[in-house]
Amino acid sequence: MTVTVDAHQPPTDLVEPRSLGEAPDEVVEQWAAEVRRLARERDAVVLAHNYQRPEIQDVADHTGDSLALSRVAAASDASTIVFCGVHFMAETAKILAPGKTVLIPDARAGCSLADSITADELRAWKAEHPGAVVVSYVNTTAAVKAETDVCCTSSNAVEVVASIPADREVLFLPDQFLGAHVRRETGRENLHVWAGECHVHAGINGAELTARAQADPEADLFVHPECGCATSALYLAGAGAVPAEQVHILSTGGMLDAAKNTTKRSVLVATEVGMLHQLRRANPAVDFRAVNDRAACGYMKTITPGALTRALREGRDEVHVDAATAARARASVERMIEIGRPGGGE
Ligand code: SF4
Repeated sequence: MTVTVDAHQPPTDLVEPRSLGEAPDEVVEQWAAEVRRLARERDAVVLAHNYQRPEIQDVADHTGDSLALSRVAAASDASTIVFCGVHFMAETAKILAPGKTVLIPDARAGCSLADSITADELRAWKAEHPGAVVVSYVNTTAAVKAETDVCCTSSNAVEVVASIPADREVLFLPDQFLGAHVRRETGRENLHVWAGECHVHAGINGAELTARAQADPEADLFVHPECGCATSALYLAGAGAVPAEQVHILSTGGMLDAAKNTTKRSVLVATEVGMLHQLRRANPAVDFRAVNDRAACGYMKTITPGALTRALREGRDEVHVDAATAARARASVERMIEIGRPGGGE
């Protein structure tokens, strides 16, 4: 059964930019020096997701995708993790590093995709499909991961599903676009997909992608599998409108690797616009352009420079996951790592 849910929108006040923006370099440098001083004082490591504001990415000790950052958190010597990302990512860091204090600079940093399904809804779905194997993309809450058999990332979702015996039903959640990609790749009929979506990625549509690709026929396309246009990208390639070798369905970590190696002069990027900062840094010779330059995640942008200094100064907001939930959730993440090649999350 496919369940329809509404994507939640972030409150509009969260979208208001409050970045250092056009501030003089010396102001940015003073702020960055203060962040580093406070981090040392608190024995903290600062982690920033690829969709964060550029100045947050630049001041962080590590920048990357959600799973890579959680693994950095677990391996770090620091006693405190400041996770500049959204809440489920900070929870994943806490699950993998239960002995550390995990702070998120703004507790309002949610995620419409993670909010697409609750643990109660998943329990009800499981009851309709006894014996089914539950596969959850890492963009889920700790409570949903605790109800999951095995997690997956966009890099290894196909591999994880292919590892499940063909006669077992699979419940795949929460992203319908990633689920459609997995169903197409595995050819599996007994894969049920939860109809969740991210309001940012769903807004990057096939019509925009087609127009941009036609305007720059030589450009490569980097498409995140959560995107509303991922299906269109594969269709365009299948129909010969865009050569298949120019279409790359990639996680954010995969995009960075591909950016370093591309020989193209221009690349169209279909994911949240914060990603462009890392791609341009990785290969300044390439013209990286957004398929939809309005695709900004208001939740990610709640983490302002001021919020980061406040978190370090005041030690808030701390992220808690109860021990029983964390243990079950950790088992589903570890099963994924055993299957192999987790790559990165969002
Ligand atoms: S861009 Fe990422 S963090 Fe923001 S709502 Fe979408 S899936 Fe969630």
